[in-house]
Amino acid sequence: MLSDALTQLAGVGPALATKLEKLGLNRVEDLLFLLPARYEDRTQLVKLGALSAGMRCLVSGEVLLSEVAFRGRRNLLVRIGDGSGQLTLRFFYFSKAQQEQFRAGVHVTAYGEVRKGGAGLEIIHPEYRILRAGQDAAINDALTPIYPSTEGVGQGRLRNLVNQALKQMRREPPEELLPVDTLAKLSMPPLADAIEMLHNPPPDADVAMLAAGEHPCQQRLAFEELLAHYLSLKRLRALAATEAAPALTGGKDEVDAFVAALPFALTGAQQRVTGEILSDLARPHPMMRLIQGDVGSGKTVVAAIACRKAVANGVQAAIMAPTELLAEQHWRSFSDWFRPLDIEPAWLSGSQKASARREALAAIADGTASVVVGTHALFQEGVEFANLGLIVIDEQHRFGVHQRMALRDKGAGPGGHPHQLVMTATPIPRTLAMAAYADLDTSVIDELPPGRQPVQTVAIPDTRRDEVVQRVHSACAAGGQAYWVCPLIEESELLDYQAAEASYAMLTEALPDVRVGLVHGRMRPAEKEKGMRAFKEGLIQLLVATTVIEVGVDVPNASLMIIENAERMGLSQLHQLRGRVGRGAAQSHCVLMYKPPLGQLAKSRLAVLRESNDGFVVAQRDLELRGPGELLGTRQTGLPDYRVADLGRDASLMPKVQVAAEQLERRAPENAERIVRRWLGSRGHYGKV
Ligand code: ADP
Ligand code: MG
Repeated sequence: MLSDALTQLAGVGPALATKLEKLGLNRVEDLLFLLPARYEDRTQLVKLGALSAGMRCLVSGEVLLSEVAFRGRRNLLVRIGDGSGQLTLRFFYFSKAQQEQFRAGVHVTAYGEVRKGGAGLEIIHPEYRILRAGQDAAINDALTPIYPSTEGVGQGRLRNLVNQALKQMRREPPEELLPVDTLAKLSMPPLADAIEMLHNPPPDADVAMLAAGEHPCQQRLAFEELLAHYLSLKRLRALAATEAAPALTGGKDEVDAFVAALPFALTGAQQRVTGEILSDLARPHPMMRLIQGDVGSGKTVVAAIACRKAVANGVQAAIMAPTELLAEQHWRSFSDWFRPLDIEPAWLSGSQKASARREALAAIADGTASVVVGTHALFQEGVEFANLGLIVIDEQHRFGVHQRMALRDKGAGPGGHPHQLVMTATPIPRTLAMAAYADLDTSVIDELPPGRQPVQTVAIPDTRRDEVVQRVHSACAAGGQAYWVCPLIEESELLDYQAAEASYAMLTEALPDVRVGLVHGRMRPAEKEKGMRAFKEGLIQLLVATTVIEVGVDVPNASLMIIENAERMGLSQLHQLRGRVGRGAAQSHCVLMYKPPLGQLAKSRLAVLRESNDGFVVAQRDLELRGPGELLGTRQTGLPDYRVADLGRDASLMPKVQVAAEQLERRAPENAERIVRRWLGSRGHYGKV
C-alpha cells in the first residue's frame, strides 16, 4: 500500500530506511512526491560533429587514440571519433585497468557535459560504457530523472525505489482530491498522471519547461502542496478563533485622548488600521493581525495606540523588537507618549544589569509594569507576566508561524491567550503574504505621513568615489547630514567592522572640516546609542555605519545616503536603508555605489531602486529576481520546507489556491483534511507545535 512504511519495499532494510528518512521519506507514497532535481536526456545519440560546449548529452564513437599526458597532473586522454567529428574524454582519476580498456578501435558510449578544452571539445569524467562488438549504445526511451541525493543512497537505488512506488501507484492510484472542475479550470493534469510523467518524462517532453519548474505537471503538484499548507494555516486561524482572549471593550476616551495628544494627526491609513486593530481587540478571541507598512509609514504609533487600549482595559502590553537598538528606539518613543499619563514603560533586554533586570521582572510579574518594551529577552524563561493581554512583535519577518504560536502560548494566562499584533517593515508581495501568513489577518498602511518627498536614487561606480565624497562635503557644508553605509560582510563581524573603520579613516581624512562619526555592529549598545544620539543632535554631520542602522535612527535633517557595495545587498534591505532619509522637508538623495562591472541581474536590481520608492514594488521585484528567502529573512524564513513548490516561482498560484481552498472547505471538507495529511502528515500540522 502507498501508506506502508518504506521497509515494505524490496531492498529496504532499517539502515536504508533511516537514510531515506533524512530525505523526508517515510512512507511509500512519499517516494512519489520526491521529484527529480533535474533530468538528463539519454534518449538520443548526438553526432560528435554536432556538439557544442555546454551540452549535456549521450555520444558514441570509436577510440582513435588513448594516452596518459602530464600537464601539471596525470591525465588520461581518450580521443573518440564517429566520422562526423571528434571528442576527448578526459580522466584525472583512473586505474591501470581503465586505461587499458580504451584500446584503439574499441567502441564506447559516454554521457556528460561537453566543454571547451585545450585541444577542442571534451567531457571530463564522463559516465561511459565500452560496447561489445555489434552492441548498440543503449538509448533510453524516457528522460532520465536525477533525484536529490542523500548520503549513501545512490541514484540507481532511488530510481529503483521510485519505480517500485510507481508500480504500486498504478495498482492503487492516489486519490484525486481536487475537484474535477478546479483541475479543468487550471488546465492541470490529474495527480497520478502528473506523478507518472515527472518520474518518466517522454523523450519529447519540454526539458526547458521542466528545468524551470513550469511544466503543468510540476505546477499541478506545487498547487496541491501550496493548497495543503494554506489549508493548514487557515485551520490554525480557525482554531485561534475558538480560543479565549480578554475582550478589550473599554477605554475609548483614554484612546481618543492619547491620539489627540500626539504631536501629529494620524494619516488616513493609520486611522483605518487602528480601527481594524481596535475592533479585533474588542472581541473575546485572540487577535492575530499583521500590519504591513513601508518604512517610515508610522507603524510604531499604531502599535502604541493598541497598547494604550490594552492598558486602559487593565491588561499588560509587551512590545518586542529584533535588536537592542530598535527596542531602545521604541522604548524612547513609548516613554515620550506614555510618561505624560504616568505610565513608565519597563525595559527588558539580554544585556541589562542583573539588578535592573530583577527590578523589571518583579514589576512585570506583579503588574506594576503595564507596558513592557524589549528584545527576545521578553519571552525567555523566568519572565512571568501578571496579565498579559497584548503582544506586539516588530520586524515580524524574522518570525515563523511556529515562533508566533509559541509566543502566544507562552503569554497565555487565566484570561486566555494574549492578542497578537505583528508588524513588518518589509512589505511582502500580496501573493507571498497569502502563502506565508495565511494564519494572520492583514492590515496595510499604504500611505506615508504628509510632506515626505520621494528619495532620488542614482547608481554610481565606485571608481567615481571622489565625486561622491565631494557630494557629501557640499551637503554637510549646506547644513545637511549624511549617512555612509558600509557593506555588511556576511558571517564576519570582524571584517565588517574593519570595512567600516577603513571608510571612516578615508572620510575623516578627505573631509577635515566635517564632523564624522562611526557606528558598527561590534560596539556595545550604549556606544552605538551614543553615536546615534550625537548624529540625531547634529553634533555629527556624517555618520559612517554598517547596516546596523537599517532599523533604527530617525533623523529628519539627514538628506543624503551613500551605500557602498550596493550590488551585494538585497533590494529590500537597500530600500530599508534608503528609508532613513527623506524624512524631512528637504529633497533627499541616495547614492548606490557599486563595484564595476555589474552583471545583468545586478543591473536590473539597482534599476528597480532607481525607478521606484514604493516598498511593495521593490518587494515584488525582489521576489521575482531572488526568491522569497531574502524578503522573509534568509536565516529564518519561518517558511516550511516545501517539497515541490518554490514560492519565488509559484507564489503567483496563490490567488487560485485561495479560491480552491474555499471551494474545498465548502464542498468537500474531508478532502481538504486529506490534502493536508498527504503533504504535511508525516511532519505534523502547524497546529501541533
Ligand atoms: P515605521 O513604520 O518605519 O516603523 P515609524 O513608526 O518609525 O515608521 O515612523 C516614522 C516617523 O514618522 C517617526 O518619526 C514618527 O514619529 C513619524 N510619524 C508617524 N506617524 C506620523 C504622522 N501621521 N504624521 C507625521 N509624522 C508621523
Ligand atoms: Mg519601525
